[in-house]
Amino acid sequence: MITIIGSGAGGSILAKELSQAKIPVTIIEKGPYAKTPDSFKFYDKYNKKIDLLTTTCVGGSTTVSMANMVRTLDKELSQYNIDLTEQYQYIENLINIHQMNNSHIGKATQLFLDAGEKLGLKTMKMPKAIQEEKCIQCGKDALGCPTDAKWTAKQFINDAIENGAKLITQAKVLKILTDNNKVKGVKYEKNGQTFTIKSHIVILAAGAINTPLILRTLGINAGNEIFFDPFVTIGGVIKNIKLNHEVQMNGLITTENFILSPHFSNFIRDKINDNSITDEDIFSIMVKTPDEGKGYITDEGQVIKTNTINDIRFMAEGCATAGMILEKVGVDPQTIVSTVYRGAHPGGTAAIGKVIDNNLETPIKGLFVDDASALPKSPGKPPILTILALSKRLADHIQKIY
Ligand SMILES: Cc1cc2nc3c(=O)[nH]c(=O)nc-3n(C[C@H](O)[C@H](O)[C@H](O)COP(=O)(O)OP(=O)(O)OC[C@H]3O[C@@H](n4cnc5c(N)ncnc54)[C@H](O)[C@@H]3O)c2cc1C
Repeated sequence: MITIIGSGAGGSILAKELSQAKIPVTIIEKGPYAKTPDSFKFYDKYNKKIDLLTTTCVGGSTTVSMANMVRTLDKELSQYNIDLTEQYQYIENLINIHQMNNSHIGKATQLFLDAGEKLGLKTMKMPKAIQEEKCIQCGKDALGCPTDAKWTAKQFINDAIENGAKLITQAKVLKILTDNNKVKGVKYEKNGQTFTIKSHIVILAAGAINTPLILRTLGINAGNEIFFDPFVTIGGVIKNIKLNHEVQMNGLITTENFILSPHFSNFIRDKINDNSITDEDIFSIMVKTPDEGKGYITDEGQVIKTNTINDIRFMAEGCATAGMILEKVGVDPQTIVSTVYRGAHPGGTAAIGKVIDNNLETPIKGLFVDDASALPKSPGKPPILTILALSKRLADHIQKIY
């Protein structure tokens, strides 16, 4: 029997693949099985010093993602003899990752793409896992898709359940049970009661904040570094541009130190401080950068993050370029403002080469880490596809050793 802790990006594909291979799987998930449009209700709360976005529900943070799907960290993973080419191809076919048809490229996104090209920047439509037939272009990606047009990890969990996997929701894993440096099972709490499951293989996929906390209960030194791919959204006014009704982040500009993507944020409207401006008048761009992983997680699960001089430099370069695009598309320069500095891709808290080996196994035999914690470096780009590919590779490995 295999126990998977967490049903987000990492846990979901593993559950699907192992159950498909007729291996008995139990998934323990802290959050509830919610309707996808209700996903926004399950955002986590952190201390006031940091604006970090994650969710606790079946599907994890993928339920509020934009379904941006890009390959990342090839060079860094190759240093650990990890080549994900086959796994990427498998997943790209499985969830039909593609650039959306022109029917789903809105006016604001097109302005962004044209401006990027005119400036000679590496510009493309964002690869997405969204079905055009179902997508009503409501712009609500980060709240939870109202039509299930967008891929989320819940779809793989549903497949796993169909294959016979057992899902236990609203159950918080407290501890991994071990004996003689080998994993023996899992202790979890549900409805105020404590339960144990016997298991000789346990996969920790509780996300980059919770996985290291569980590892620490075993004396494993995790969560002492953390990246989160910082981002800001900057923008201003173009009357009636209606970016808020478009598929979010549907264009992509890539440079070495940052990415840019069109992204509506109502914080921009609030900061402009002009009652005549509505959401429909906002044109804004997300600036996202890689960061150096300086920071740590406290034993209470709060994140302490330090910005290095390079972190700040990359953000400044990205904002300067975004400013040029805002000017080119016709945003009123008097109105340009920024959101606060945020992060939505926590990772690197139990990294390959530091806490786990290149098969994602911890020093405890049979205990694996399979989520963003494992990533060796900040991608500065959407990480889901890389997490899924690493997880598919782990599923293949486990099938060999089970
Ligand atoms: C608003 C937003 C938009 C994003 N958009 C994109 C995007 O377009 N593309 C992209 O690549 N990335 C995106 N991301 C980031 C992406 O969603 C995450 O990087 C990814 O989901 C991380 O995968 P994971 O498996 O590490 O964790 P998660 O997907 O968060 O899964 C962890 C799971 O473990 C559960 N859990 C936690 N603790 C316990 C416990 N003790 N016991 C049992 N279960 C537990 C949680 O409830 C959760 O379900 C976005 C994130 C946010 C917040």
